[in-house]
Amino acid sequence: MKRRALRDEPLIFERNPGRARRQGFVLPPLDVPAVDPASVIPAELLRHDEPGCPDVGEMEVVQHFHRLSQLNYAVDEGLYPLGSCTMKYNPRLNEQTARFPGLASIHPLQPPEQVQGALRLIWELERALLAITGMAGVTLQPAAGAHGELAGILMIRRALAARGDARSVVLVPDSAHGTNPATAAFAGYEAVEVPSAEDGTVDLEALDRLMTDRVAAVMLTVPNTLGVFEHQILEISRLVHDRGGLVYMDGANLNAFVGRALPGRMGADAMHINLHKTFSTPHGGGGPGAGPVVVSETLVPHLPVPRVVRDGESFRVVHDDPASIGPMRGFFGNFLILVRALTYIRSLGADGLREMSSTAVLYANLIRHRLAGAYHLPYRSPSLHEVVLDDSRQAARDIHNVDIAKRLLDHGFHPPTMSFPLIVHGALMIEPAESVPPEEIDAFCDAMLAIAAEAEASPEVVRGAPHDTPVSRVDEVRAARQLKVRWTPEGSS
Ligand SMILES: *Cc1c(COP(=O)(O)O)cnc(C)c1O
Repeated sequence: MKRRALRDEPLIFERNPGRARRQGFVLPPLDVPAVDPASVIPAELLRHDEPGCPDVGEMEVVQHFHRLSQLNYAVDEGLYPLGSCTMKYNPRLNEQTARFPGLASIHPLQPPEQVQGALRLIWELERALLAITGMAGVTLQPAAGAHGELAGILMIRRALAARGDARSVVLVPDSAHGTNPATAAFAGYEAVEVPSAEDGTVDLEALDRLMTDRVAAVMLTVPNTLGVFEHQILEISRLVHDRGGLVYMDGANLNAFVGRALPGRMGADAMHINLHKTFSTPHGGGGPGAGPVVVSETLVPHLPVPRVVRDGESFRVVHDDPASIGPMRGFFGNFLILVRALTYIRSLGADGLREMSSTAVLYANLIRHRLAGAYHLPYRSPSLHEVVLDDSRQAARDIHNVDIAKRLLDHGFHPPTMSFPLIVHGALMIEPAESVPPEEIDAFCDAMLAIAAEAEASPEVVRGAPHDTPVSRVDEVRAARQLKVRWTPEGSS
């Protein structure tokens, strides 16, 4: 009912159509001498007509944006099962610490002696990530996972160049996230695909064939994007190292094994960690993230600068190092995201973090167990923190993953990731994350089972979904290709 009323929410410019003078803010009286704008602003920059601001009062502004926020779906509203993205709840404590004036109001150009606490925080988060991964060095600079991938591959390129062994190819499994081949190409490498074996993991024989002396690195996601652990990871990294290559691990799925396994023991040379996935902090909608990269001894000399160094009880900053790949970003990256991640790590503690990853795996398996009778499971390998189903059973009735995803909106859930990984046709990739109560997992499974039953009994209902949202299907391709941000009363075209 509430949502139905929201359907008619106009643009803020359309509120107050009579354009009665309303104001949300009153400026204080001018207490400096008035100046003629024409005497200080060049004529071509002077405005001659009114700026066209909406005439609305403060409360109308608040109502408008509050209503729009209610048309959205958020992690604070319910299960957000986007696979690979790890959409977990962001505890409010994180927000409290990130707003401490001593952290939120400092400037990155302040001299180190004035910001010892912030430098210490960076240093401590680095130690925590090294303990969690068993690696030798770390940078917190990159702003996201993909940016971390680039930092890692640039360090690998630098290490190989230092050996006088520049190479030209990066191998990427066919189940990888699109950012992996994009990163390889951006760093100047040719990305070559490695096929998956029957069980969804890397085909070792194919890798053996492809792993020539032209290959700089292999990029591997562990567990992979099917939620399956690369059980031959030790053989893979031995093979790659024996032939002079390096191992890049995509750590976006670290949520599956924090406190259970160490990438440092798996032969990884570089791995990014999406703080905004594994260690809470809000993400989605393009908000700031952080993609620290942990590295093996081989890559430590090439870590980006600036670096925080501990000298006894104080901390200093190293700005120059000829072996470094240089800065990946201004200063220390998205500092307040680092604050949130350390808050999360400290508030859970080692035992809490272990419980976090095991609960995530338990939930994914609960979903797999409940849904495997109604949806096809393309890979039967054991699932870790996410489970990939496909639409092949429903496709016989001309119902596809997009229909199932849209129908979930009517049932009150955000859809899972669709059509990824690319090796699964009609994929529905579900990652529950550990932060929701078990009843929510059950309610999600109930909704998925109800949709499978609807697909049999009344397929047209599923095909026409969503029915209860302000707009039903939109032309997503056209919306992305022909951006139209201005609305006219004649309708959008
Ligand atoms: C999310 C993700 C990335 C990219 O991380 P961003 O922080 O979105 O840049 C890379 N690989 C995998 C497997 C991911 O899930």
